[in-house]
Amino acid sequence: MQRANDVIVVGAGPVGLTLATALVARGVSVTMIEAGAALSTDWRASTFHPPTLEMLEEFGIVGEMLERGLIADKYQVRDRSRGLIAEFDLRELGSDTKYPFRLQFEQYKYSQILLRNLSDHPLFTIQWSERVSSVAEISDGVQVASVAADGTEVTRVAQYVIGADGAKSAVRRSLGLELEGHTYPVRFLILSSSYPFEKRFPDLALVNYIWDPVEPVMLLRIPDVWRVMFSVSDDVSDDMLADRAAIQQRLKTLIGDEGPAEVPVSSVQYYSVHQRVAARFRVGRVLLAGDAGHINSPVGGLGMNSGIHDAMQIAPAVVAAISDGDDEALTQVAAHRRQVALDTVRAITDRNTREMTEKDDDVRRANALALQSLASDPAKRHKWLLQSSMLAAVR
Ligand SMILES: Cc1cc2nc3c(=O)[nH]c(=O)nc-3n(C[C@H](O)[C@H](O)[C@H](O)COP(=O)(O)OP(=O)(O)OC[C@H]3O[C@@H](n4cnc5c(N)ncnc54)[C@H](O)[C@@H]3O)c2cc1C
Repeated sequence: MQRANDVIVVGAGPVGLTLATALVARGVSVTMIEAGAALSTDWRASTFHPPTLEMLEEFGIVGEMLERGLIADKYQVRDRSRGLIAEFDLRELGSDTKYPFRLQFEQYKYSQILLRNLSDHPLFTIQWSERVSSVAEISDGVQVASVAADGTEVTRVAQYVIGADGAKSAVRRSLGLELEGHTYPVRFLILSSSYPFEKRFPDLALVNYIWDPVEPVMLLRIPDVWRVMFSVSDDVSDDMLADRAAIQQRLKTLIGDEGPAEVPVSSVQYYSVHQRVAARFRVGRVLLAGDAGHINSPVGGLGMNSGIHDAMQIAPAVVAAISDGDDEALTQVAAHRRQVALDTVRAITDRNTREMTEKDDDVRRANALALQSLASDPAKRHKWLLQSSMLAAVR
């Protein structure tokens, strides 16, 4: 048994690293436990919304992110057969935020920046290749049990523990909490391609949601490549999703006959799509943040952003609890973050996903008319921009 830590953060994903950075900056020591041997470089989130950039100002990293990322000041909603439905220009938020755009920047690069800045910090320690198996509250703290790569069992004690260990969170399971909600009957097939999609679709934005009754697509530009995310029925097998000829056929259907014989594809991934929230984000001295507490469809790019918001709001409440012994702020922040996950993140991503994947032609047509009506009404459009950029949820 080792000396009690101030805080143990489980998981070195973008949310855990945000928590660690915010906590050490406020004078609290952090021990981070990460199951992997190094940071994940999986491609996942790539959109940073305006309020997230505002919050990250205190870390002094926004300049570097802006320099290395792409500024997407518009996003489009299209229909595969009917073309452009509506375009939203985030520059209309110019009087609401310093950052009236989405920043396209990969989450693994964000995590690398945070880890680089944390690595020399005297209040920060990271333990790689150690998987947390359980947490248990004891008289004056929380005991965290984990297993190292060589099978050694390790026990640590902290005043507070934050589970930022992703969707399959061992911390959440140890608390007896499930992620409640549903899984959509689709999976996302995600391809990276250097093909210039902007030549095929005139005036294409950097972020595009393309509705279709069979296979809707998100087309997202990140600094080096386009990401093409096909929403595919969940009865398509893994082998068929990864099948090279089937991938080329999907791309051909999207691009049309004038495309090259073989569209370049540099990576292939697929994911199930969930809409789930834990019943509680706090049990005693243990809190959940990010995907450990809530997972949602990626349509709208809110998952990681809301996880970073969890971290930035939980950190000062933990600091207050440690310094004053008053943990009322923790109770409030845990309840508030859960409500945001339900009322903002779930509501917006569910609406986006349902619209994009709607199969009934009449309903799709009605949805398109409703979206066009919203986009052409300045007051409604502004309200929607505030909601979908998450500004409304943090103001
Ligand atoms: C295809 C895709 C596209 C997405 N696009 C967007 C987007 O554009 N915008 C957006 O906001 N969100 C997006 N998301 C969601 C976003 O990727 C997640 O919300 C984000 O990764 C959550 O971060 P996290 O730190 O909570 O969890 P994770 O990134 O999952 O990190 C958890 C960490 O915990 C570690 N860990 C797990 N179990 C243990 C254990 N028992 N012990 C120790 N360590 C453990 C893992 O190794 C990992 O490093 C997307 C997701 C997907 C799948």
